[in-house]
Amino acid sequence: MTHSIAVIPGDGIGTEVMPEGLRCVRRAAELFGIGLSFEEFDFASAAYWSKHGQMLPDNWFDTLKDFDALYFGAVGWPETVPDHVSLWGSLLQFRRGFDQYVSLRPVRLLPGVPAPLAGRVPGDIDFVVVRENTEGEYSDIGGRIFEGTDREAVVQQTVMTRTGVDRIVRYAYELAERRGKHLTSATKSNGISYSMPYWDERVAALGAAHPDVRVDKFHIDILSAHFVLHPDWFDVVVASNLFGDILSDLGPACTGTIGVAPSGNINPGGAHPSLFEPVHGSAPDIAGQGIANPVGQIWAGAMMLDHLGHADAAAAIVDAFERVLARGEVRTPDLGGTATCTELGREIAAAITAE
Ligand code: ATP
Ligand code: MG
Repeated sequence: MTHSIAVIPGDGIGTEVMPEGLRCVRRAAELFGIGLSFEEFDFASAAYWSKHGQMLPDNWFDTLKDFDALYFGAVGWPETVPDHVSLWGSLLQFRRGFDQYVSLRPVRLLPGVPAPLAGRVPGDIDFVVVRENTEGEYSDIGGRIFEGTDREAVVQQTVMTRTGVDRIVRYAYELAERRGKHLTSATKSNGISYSMPYWDERVAALGAAHPDVRVDKFHIDILSAHFVLHPDWFDVVVASNLFGDILSDLGPACTGTIGVAPSGNINPGGAHPSLFEPVHGSAPDIAGQGIANPVGQIWAGAMMLDHLGHADAAAAIVDAFERVLARGEVRTPDLGGTATCTELGREIAAAITAE
């Protein structure tokens, strides 16, 4: 069986780190006997926008819908297209159109990577933030009332549907089953009196199907503190859209520079393709110099292989970049070295083994 992958490099350093991601994914596929086919697309980029006045072709959905995964670089070139236009016109269309309701961010302390928590915290920091990606606090229901009067006010509704909450919580439980059998839920039911108690209720109810998963919950304020003070306490962390948004930036920031963090936008049922990308953007300030760190893109490639059912190949890639980073001989400037993006990518690809 061959998995088909749509490759969308995008803008800026997206076009520089993508070849290194592909190099490592291809190498792992070769070693583990995985059939992959790739097709590259030039849309979701400022160049495409300059030519066509839009970020995506009208038929983007049909063009992409039958791929098994989307491998994405970075989008955005503010000199040419305002950021909100490039983002809304591409990545957010994919997220919505393909119902990628899970946002997945691994958090892991990597040896040899300068990070606020590097070397400081006892215990093994290795967890995943699972963020609800479609509803919750980011609904567009609301508005201003009594404008211009002394009763002027604004209302913004949180909407949590049973379907929306259950599917993200279920995903998190299933992920916990495959990992350390420990789930942490982010809540704020002491201050938010309808939506968060409902969230808690669904987390507890769905736990019945997973008796061997240990569950705990923290209010978002203290949970944020624990991310910094006790990151070794976590395995899988599940959170609503807003809380997850914050935690999925905080976690990777504590344990790494932006160049190494990956992200998955997942449609778990597989009815639509999921998208894998580095957390960083197109980085216009360093684009064109060949010095971008490719690890975020490479790690996203590992997540993609894992999602496609190849956990062994994914682990081999992660193991390879961990060893290369720990050795510290080939480092891009953000890691304190002088290596190029390609040099680091090649080093990691060469370190992948099927052992
Ligand atoms: P976004 O596109 O998400 O809005 P942004 O454009 O504000 O993000 P990034 O493009 O992620 O930000 O860049 C932020 C900073 O991090 C820049 O100084 C950039 O050079 C640096 N940076 C980002 N990615 C990398 C990388 N892969 N390697 C080295 N430095 C990076
Ligand atoms: Mg940007």
